[in-house]
Amino acid sequence: MMLPADSHVHSEWSWDTGGPTSRATGRMRATCAYAVRIGLEAIYFTEHLDIPDTWRAEPEDLMPHQRGFLNSAGRVDFAPFDTVGYFEAIDRVRHEFPGLRIHTGVEFGQPHLFGREAAEVIDLDLIDRVLGSLHSLDLGNGRAEPGTLFREHNPTVVMNAYLEQIPVMVNGSDVFEVLAHIDYAIRTWPTATVGPFDPRPFEDAFRGAMRSIADGDRALEMNTRRLWSWIPEWWAEAGGKAVSFGSDAHTPDAVAANFPEATAMLEHFGFQPGRTPEDLWVRSRATAVFTGDVL
Ligand SMILES: [Zn+2]
Ligand SMILES: [Zn+2]
Repeated sequence: MMLPADSHVHSEWSWDTGGPTSRATGRMRATCAYAVRIGLEAIYFTEHLDIPDTWRAEPEDLMPHQRGFLNSAGRVDFAPFDTVGYFEAIDRVRHEFPGLRIHTGVEFGQPHLFGREAAEVIDLDLIDRVLGSLHSLDLGNGRAEPGTLFREHNPTVVMNAYLEQIPVMVNGSDVFEVLAHIDYAIRTWPTATVGPFDPRPFEDAFRGAMRSIADGDRALEMNTRRLWSWIPEWWAEAGGKAVSFGSDAHTPDAVAANFPEATAMLEHFGFQPGRTPEDLWVRSRATAVFTGDVL
């Protein structure tokens, strides 16, 4: 079957893949070669558009190759996104891989806070797909990633605070069309101390976040690092109409990971492909009846 486009992929132009030091490895090129090999027709290189020096971390919060980005103040610092270099690289791979449709993108972190800073780096009107991501939040001691906050606070408090920020982000920015990885905070959930993540205690908070995304006419990304059936289920029930698929690959061989399982799961909840792999999948009328909605 036709796989949807992978709408969330990182290459050497994302700071957290090593930035300039990894540029010589040609990760974007290797990613395209892999995509062609597995039969993917379209891909979006959604590089991180994070604003440097805006969140704190401890060395253990970062992958070993990222620890050089911690500055003396304990904040994550790196060179701003290299827009010119990125567009040149996209141009090169488009010529080299004419059978693969290669699209531009960014994964904009905290777009509700950093619109002005981002505008100095890149004109988002030139970008094919803008993902909005919530990577950090401030629980009173400066912005930090959920993984840092889980060590400092009650995990329930952190998870709820994360989900409560999503409507704030949606209402505070209209530059992004897709909300990426709503399950981001679950990635660093402290399973070893409090047990496996159970979504049920957070059901209202997840549903509230999803309603704000649906009401804001955004799509929800199905981030395929982990597949959770309750995400498309609650998204459909919240009135969510559209989804994208994103592997969030940081290495070539993670592109389109779990896509066959993810598409089967989305079909189960009534989402259907469009005409091309780039089209968002949308929920059909039949399922709207099934969930009690009136379209
Ligand atoms: Zn992200
Ligand atoms: Zn990402």
